[in-house]
Amino acid sequence: MSEKPEIVIVGGGPVGLFLGICLIKQGTDCLILEKRKNPVPDSRSLGIHPPSLRLFKQLDVIEPFLKAGLKIKTGLAYNAQTLMGTIDFESTCPKPFNYILACPQSETERILRDEFLALAPDKLITEAQVFDLHFDETSVNVFYTHEETSKKIKVSYIIGCDGKNSLIRQKADILLEGKRYPDTYIMGDFEDITSFGDKAAVFLPKQGMIECFPLPNGMRRWVVKTDMYYSNATANDIVELVKDRINFDLSVAKNTMLSSFGVQHFIAESFFKDSVILCGDSAHVVSPIGGQGMNLGWIGAWELSKVLSFPESKLPLLKHYENAHRKRVIKAAKRAELNMLLGRKRTFPFLRNSVLRLMLNTPLKKKMAHQFTMQGLLPEQEFSTA
Ligand SMILES: Cc1cc2nc3c(=O)[nH]c(=O)nc-3n(C[C@H](O)[C@H](O)[C@H](O)COP(=O)(O)OP(=O)(O)OC[C@H]3O[C@@H](n4cnc5c(N)ncnc54)[C@H](O)[C@@H]3O)c2cc1C
Repeated sequence: MSEKPEIVIVGGGPVGLFLGICLIKQGTDCLILEKRKNPVPDSRSLGIHPPSLRLFKQLDVIEPFLKAGLKIKTGLAYNAQTLMGTIDFESTCPKPFNYILACPQSETERILRDEFLALAPDKLITEAQVFDLHFDETSVNVFYTHEETSKKIKVSYIIGCDGKNSLIRQKADILLEGKRYPDTYIMGDFEDITSFGDKAAVFLPKQGMIECFPLPNGMRRWVVKTDMYYSNATANDIVELVKDRINFDLSVAKNTMLSSFGVQHFIAESFFKDSVILCGDSAHVVSPIGGQGMNLGWIGAWELSKVLSFPESKLPLLKHYENAHRKRVIKAAKRAELNMLLGRKRTFPFLRNSVLRLMLNTPLKKKMAHQFTMQGLLPEQEFSTA
């Protein structure tokens, strides 16, 4: 590989690292500049969906994920306390990845970082913060700070994998379109004192949705729909809301992580402009309810890596990447919107719950399983050998 890479990826989060692995594996040189020394410690995303697992298998990085993660094969749907139905991923999704793998984002980033470094030990520069870009006819000068000095690198393409507040997107003058939703949530990781084992559970009481997902190491993630944004949420807020809505006592369970969040859907008006390409949250942000943002980023990164491996003019291929991926993002955002709608507070939840109960007890539940597991977002024929 050349001394100077043709491509710089800004941001070594889950999507930048994954894209780096895709590119290096196909022989396309790249360099990742990441401002942090270590991956973010909090466990934001937890669900790795079947299309991503297939990509991991294709890239030969699946084993550490299977070791670190926990397989969720079943989802249970309750009203306040009564079971309305189950969704069985194991029998409704294609093998071998007929489950959602629960793995905290900090662990996911650690694995991807290790895998990238094993392939290209000198192609990830940490504590390297990009602060400016200068464009010329066919290339871009990337300015960044590293070890208290300013540095410059000239490349043909810069890929912004720098998250939803992307500096790269701003420097390229690419606008974001979208909206914030009124919905707010609190989430927390607690020691698992339920009897659900490796099953996920969703509760739909009239005061608003509660979800809980198993995590590795005997923990469980609780996500609770709230009426307002809790700026200083405490574990006790979750304990009280869970007790009040579904009469389950979490007070004795150890809490390790807590956060409040609002939700948004934003999409960049374009995923590329001249030498700048956007990927992951810099290009699109979808609501975490339904948990698909990072997975969507990986699917986009996979498609993008194939475009970048072509030696000839990339413009028509980039247009294809943009069109195909935009459709996926819109589809995922609609699925997330539906999940949020179902989970809102209802004065009379009976109608919603009756419809759901019906769906969960007819062949429609197969469609629901497909939606929850992001099936159909990648062309199946690519994975005939998976
Ligand atoms: C509460 C919550 C729960 C979620 N749950 C799920 C889930 O279950 N499943 C799912 O698929 N998604 C989920 N998501 C979404 C997921 O977290 C994001 O989609 C994912 O983190 C996006 O990855 P990314 O690499 O594009 O961006 P980021 O994770 O934001 O990473 C960007 C990286 O770029 C670096 N960076 C930024 N600026 C610069 C700069 N100027 N120079 C150098 N480096 C820079 C940052 O340090 C960071 O490492 C959730 C999100 C939230 C908030």
